[in-house]
Amino acid sequence: MTRRLTIAIPSKGRLREPTWSLLEASGLSPQEPGERVLMAQCRNADVDILFVRADDVPEYVQDGVVDCGVTGLDLVAEKGCDVEVLLRLGFGLCSLQAAVPNEDVATSLDDLDGKRIATAHPHLAATALRERGIKAELVTVTGSAEITPRLGLADAIIDLVSSGSTLRTNGLRTIGTLFEAEAVLIGRNDGAGTEAARTLTTVLGSVVNARANRYLLCNVPTDAVDAVTELLPTKGSPSVMPLATPGTVALHALVPAKEIWQLLPKLEALGATSILTLPVERMVP
Ligand code: AMP
Repeated sequence: MTRRLTIAIPSKGRLREPTWSLLEASGLSPQEPGERVLMAQCRNADVDILFVRADDVPEYVQDGVVDCGVTGLDLVAEKGCDVEVLLRLGFGLCSLQAAVPNEDVATSLDDLDGKRIATAHPHLAATALRERGIKAELVTVTGSAEITPRLGLADAIIDLVSSGSTLRTNGLRTIGTLFEAEAVLIGRNDGAGTEAARTLTTVLGSVVNARANRYLLCNVPTDAVDAVTELLPTKGSPSVMPLATPGTVALHALVPAKEIWQLLPKLEALGATSILTLPVERMVP
C-alpha cells in the first residue's frame, strides 16, 4: 500500500484561502472541511491535509508530525526550525520593514542604532539587525507594533508590510527592508518522505510557474521575427509557424505575466497583429 503524504496548511489567516486555491488548482481535489475539522483527505491523491495555525507549521514539519507544510518564509525564519524550503509559492508576499514616525529624522536602517524598537518578530528582527551590525534594543509585542511609537513605548518598529497602508494610517514611514517573505512549501530536512515530498513540489510548482506566465500568440511580419524574438523576455526560443498569407508568420511564446503590459505596445510598434495572451494551467520547465 502507498504511504499517504501528510501536509499541514494554515487553518485561518491570510494564507488560508490562497493555499486552498493552490491545492485545488493543482488537481488534488481536497474535500471541503467543515467547521472545526482538523483533517481532510484529497479525493484523487494519497494526500492528507492537516489544518493548523501558520505559526505551528514549521515545528510540525521539523518534528515529523507531517511530511510537508505551507507557511510564511518569515515564520520559518522566526521559529528557527530545521526544515527545507521546497518551493516559493508566489502569494503572501510581504517584507519585514523598519519604520519610524513621519516626523523622525531617521532615513536609513543605520539610524536604528541605539533605538528602542517594537516588534512581533523578535528572532527575525534580531538576526537581521545583527547581520547589519546595528545595535538596538528590541521590545517584543504580540501584535499592533505600529501604535507603540505613539504610546512612547518605542522609537521605531519592525513589522511585516505588504501594501504599506497600515504604516501610512499610523503616521509611520519605512526606512528600510530587512527580509523578503512569501508563502513557501517546506519539507523535512532529514530526507524522510523525500520522494512523496518531491512529487508534491513538482505538482504545486507546475501551477505556481504557470500562474506567473502567459501564453502569447501573435502574427508578425516575417522580416520582424528577429526583432520580436529579441524583444521577448522568454528563456526558450518562440515557435514560429507559417501562415496562409505570405510575408507573415504566427509566433507563440511563453512570457512572464508581469511583463505583458510593457510588451504589448512594443509588439504593436514592430507590426505584430492579432495579439492574444492566454492563461497557462500548468508548466513544468
Ligand atoms: P496570518 O497572521 O495567519 O494572517 O498570516 C501571517 C502570514 O501572512 C505572515 O507570517 C506572512 O507570511 C504573511 N503576510 C503577508 N502579508 C502580510 C502582512 N502585511 N502582515 C503580516 N503578515 C503578512
